Amino acid sequence: MTVKPKSITEKVAWSGRIISVQPRIRLVRSFDERSHSYLGYMLRVKGTVGNEPCEFQVALGKAAQAKHRFHAGMDASGDAVPVPDPRLETAGFYKASGLKILKDTEGEPPAGPPFHGEPFDLETYRSRGHRRLDARTYDTKCTTCIWGCRMPVEMIIDHWNPSRKRYRFETFCYGPKSCLFYRPGPTRKVPGRKGMSYTEEDWVDEDTTAHRGPDD
Ligand code: SF4
Repeated sequence: MTVKPKSITEKVAWSGRIISVQPRIRLVRSFDERSHSYLGYMLRVKGTVGNEPCEFQVALGKAAQAKHRFHAGMDASGDAVPVPDPRLETAGFYKASGLKILKDTEGEPPAGPPFHGEPFDLETYRSRGHRRLDARTYDTKCTTCIWGCRMPVEMIIDHWNPSRKRYRFETFCYGPKSCLFYRPGPTRKVPGRKGMSYTEEDWVDEDTTAHRGPDD
């Protein structure tokens, strides 16, 4: 089970085994338009926060990931701050600092899926594009895969009144189209003005990833 901070408001020490590293990407939707913010990476860790044993997620910037080259199987530690608005982050903690690798892995990661090893730079994710990924498939098969991503989504309901927003999370796959674990799940609907709704059909994903072959 992944824990989210409850009443902690200050920097806390964490340590443990990294289970996965995935990109940290935020999505803004306004009816049929969407834009992404490529913020960094997210470590999923099984270990302790303070003295409490738990599984948790820590958000970090791309410079920290480039320096430490975190990947699944490493033991690591650091400090982090609980996120102030859980609607805007998949991770429970962010502003990671004092990062240390306690033990690296040996040898090559096993062949996927799910795909482990070091995640790619954010430009690679941006240029590959994603397909929607069934939320249950993500939970059961893809939480450790470098190509999986659970994005916080901010939806602007009325572009004449951008303060009207709703929030949710959506799961995506940036991985090879031939992955046997992949399931798209139901199409996603985006609410709009006056009860209108936009359905993001399959052609959007086909178009976004048309430049990739099945095994790319
Ligand atoms: S469906 Fe995508 S995220 Fe899941 S294991 Fe396959 S490549 Fe990874």
